[in-house]
Amino acid sequence: MILIVDDKPENLVSLRGFLEYNNFQVEEASSGEEALRKVLKKVYSLIILDVQMPGMDGFEVAETILDYSKAKDTPILFLSAVNINKEFITRGYQSGAVDYITKPFDPDILLLKVKTFNRLFEQTNQLKQIQKTLKREIENRKELEKKKDEFISIASHELKTPLTSIRGYIQLLERLINKEGNENLKPYISKVSSQINKLGDLVSDLLDISNMESGKMKFNIKPFFFEDMLNNAIDNIKQIFPEHTITKTGTANIYYPGDEMRIEQVVINYLTNAIKYSPDHRRIEINSIIDENWLEIRVTDHGIGISKELQEQLFEKFFRVEESSNRFQGLGIGLYICQEVIQRHEGTCGVISELVKGSTFFFRLPLIPID
Ligand code: ADP
Repeated sequence: MILIVDDKPENLVSLRGFLEYNNFQVEEASSGEEALRKVLKKVYSLIILDVQMPGMDGFEVAETILDYSKAKDTPILFLSAVNINKEFITRGYQSGAVDYITKPFDPDILLLKVKTFNRLFEQTNQLKQIQKTLKREIENRKELEKKKDEFISIASHELKTPLTSIRGYIQLLERLINKEGNENLKPYISKVSSQINKLGDLVSDLLDISNMESGKMKFNIKPFFFEDMLNNAIDNIKQIFPEHTITKTGTANIYYPGDEMRIEQVVINYLTNAIKYSPDHRRIEINSIIDENWLEIRVTDHGIGISKELQEQLFEKFFRVEESSNRFQGLGIGLYICQEVIQRHEGTCGVISELVKGSTFFFRLPLIPID
């Protein structure tokens, strides 16, 4: 809707006729005051203002309109037979007009301008609408994310208690079975035990994630002997996967100021993944390299590998390579946690991999002198 403002009825009639003939909807006002009243009530796509009017002139009207939040985006086109000198035109622009046309106007030019301003107004409105919808969507998502984090936190805490109790009963059962020498029950109990351990790992991963997201993940930083931690992690894995060979090269005979448990968790995660994603190869290598600035740990397998284009996403939360997710169980959070742990030690994680040939996952930690 276009508002035309002119004190001369004959001008209003001709302009309205011209615009309506060109399919625009038009409202009119015969004074500046009437125009302001209308603008307060309705949003117009364009206001065509006569400059020379008794009472409020066009410039005053434009200046006042600029202060109305409802109309501040409405373009204003000044139309005037007089005041054609430069000074007046400048004042027109300063008071917020988008354009200025002097009479007698060329109808083609006026029509072109009216069409352009109308379209501009519509597009601005559409953009604003899109912006509003986006803002609402972002707020919704943030709210959902908050609820999801709370849910994960509560659920994982609640799961931890019965899990601990089940673990206790399994140990009791193991002892009873050993005492009574009931050999054929042993494989079942060890299966239950290994599944419970998996469930336990999952729950602590979920807990880690929820603590990480809420900034509550605690790090216990103190110097520890790196090589011992590595050997512990390897022994741990060897016990769970006795058929695999883990070859270690290099030594990390240094005291490192960090969270030993968390860094061991990263090594174990890399080793477990190396075993999990190389079902046809039982050979894993772990390599430590120390130079002046960095301590680097590499875990190499000869398994399924990962294509180049997916390698960057591996450390993202819940990311899993599609083909492998059909064959192997998992949630896609292990590497995300690893990266967070290493980054909290000012280090970096990465992978070098080739499809079908295998992968090398590595992390590097800066060597910080201990006081
Ligand atoms: P999960 O193993 O539970 O899915 P991770 O975060 O540890 O979660 O790993 C994310 C994804 O990265 C895995 O789903 C798998 O697709 C891929 N991946 C990780 N380690 C290896 C590896 N050694 N070889 C091949 N793919 C791997």
